[in-house]
Amino acid sequence: MPTKYLFITGGVCSSLGKGLSAAALALLLEKMGLKVAMLKFDPYLNVDPGTMNPFQHGEVYVTDDGAETDLDLGHYYRFTNSPLSRASNATSGQIYNAVIRRERRGDYLGKTVQVIPHITDEIKSRITACAQQVEDIDVVVVEVGGTVGDIEGLPFLEAIRQFQHEHPGDCLSIHLTYVPYIKAAGEVKTKPTQHSVQALRSIGIFPSIILCRCEDPLEESEKAKISLFCNVAPEAVIDEPDVAHTIYEVPLHLAEQGMGRMICQKLGLREAAVDLSEWQKIVDTVKNPKGTVTVGIVGKYVEHQDAYKSVFEALAHAAISHGYKIKIKQFESDKVLEHGQIKESVRGCDGYLVPGGFGERGWLGKILTAAHCRDNKIPYFGICLGMQAMVVDFARHVMGWEDASTTEIDPQTQHPVISLLSEQQEIKDLGGTMRLGAYRCVLKQGSKAHQAYGTEVISERHRHRYEYNNRYQGAMEKHGLLLSGTLENDTIAEIAEVINHPWMVGVQYHPEFKSKPTAPHPLFRAFVGAMIEAKGKQTL
Ligand code: GLN
Repeated sequence: MPTKYLFITGGVCSSLGKGLSAAALALLLEKMGLKVAMLKFDPYLNVDPGTMNPFQHGEVYVTDDGAETDLDLGHYYRFTNSPLSRASNATSGQIYNAVIRRERRGDYLGKTVQVIPHITDEIKSRITACAQQVEDIDVVVVEVGGTVGDIEGLPFLEAIRQFQHEHPGDCLSIHLTYVPYIKAAGEVKTKPTQHSVQALRSIGIFPSIILCRCEDPLEESEKAKISLFCNVAPEAVIDEPDVAHTIYEVPLHLAEQGMGRMICQKLGLREAAVDLSEWQKIVDTVKNPKGTVTVGIVGKYVEHQDAYKSVFEALAHAAISHGYKIKIKQFESDKVLEHGQIKESVRGCDGYLVPGGFGERGWLGKILTAAHCRDNKIPYFGICLGMQAMVVDFARHVMGWEDASTTEIDPQTQHPVISLLSEQQEIKDLGGTMRLGAYRCVLKQGSKAHQAYGTEVISERHRHRYEYNNRYQGAMEKHGLLLSGTLENDTIAEIAEVINHPWMVGVQYHPEFKSKPTAPHPLFRAFVGAMIEAKGKQTL
């Protein structure tokens, strides 16, 4: 059976959750026994989102092979078992870069280099490369970022048109649109969808399924109208209303409307029954939790709802695994202090998490959040910069090294407890040059980390330039800051934890990238468990 291709484009506006829908569809296909690979095209000119401010782009999702990618890959990871690597995300920047490098080498033998065919060929080669990254892929799900009508998305759509022409019978196009409810008129409007599909058809892409994001399920009459104007069968107009409780309801809703089966029929794939009972259980737990546990997130990008996407999701997975609901309170790290103390309004969470970050703004707030948790024996989870803040708090307030810091923020400190990784010393370019991707780490027996993982060697993904300075390890360990995980066959510190504390753990890597609702991350599970325990003690 040849590999099949499912193309997902978006219409009307952005932020409709196209990545989530793509991931949910891929899950349905996997549940039918198919092997799926996923690919996200991003039409912007950055080579990757790694150099973008999180306010612009949200989280940067890192793969095992060290690619800095779009956050939709996080959805792909959480919903599916699709292989995720450098081959799973391509931007216009990468595509043009590859073509221009070839042109400079003289590979085009004097030809004029053009969008068609050179850029479109490069785009098509990425689709094929994604299909070939592992053996026996049945379906490649290709999501095109942006909205139909965007100038920068045109080469991708043209490449998809060509690809469909070259692979007749093996391609299917799904268009995700928005069907707004207009309050003043008291009805939903299908016109934006009609226009969006028209625009797509004028490019030569004819969607066979229209996926309608909407506030409430659509009436049959509304579906019939979309069917007529958009040239698809009435049953191929699928609604995807806003979910009330959790995004993990999305695949259930799509399955109810026969989405997986329809894709198989249209692609000539063998159909099978879809068993989503595991996902139903997750949704049921979210709807009927045993209790709520409240976590405070102290970071500097809290105003962008996607900046800590994977962290939020990993917390939710962990809470679900304990039968709880997570309540997340976000605090701007440069606004959490008052008279050099954590503000009263920031207190009162069951635990605190300080996520990754860069630069000086809000740095002191993060250190003092760690101090507050250490002093008051409140669970604390530090991720990357959050781990570094935890080490600096310990150095300043337990060791008494008042000027201790990271050289990222204070290059002149006399106590550089966090310093630049030696491999980073010569690096000048900022793009794609951090310590990136998966490394193996050996855990110390009996530590909190070891208890959580229940294994001695782990593999986690990284994205940083600075590290815990081993020069200080001996002295700090004597005072209770245990180094509980180090890079395999090396000395780079990966995990630190405060002993004589219920749960205060900092990790140099990003565990949030490897949590699924069906397989919550062990450290998040342990952290949430510690918060539940602390909460229980308070109420006793
Ligand atoms: N800025 C810190 C470093 O580069 C932490 C990075 C992060 O939190 N991802 O080491």
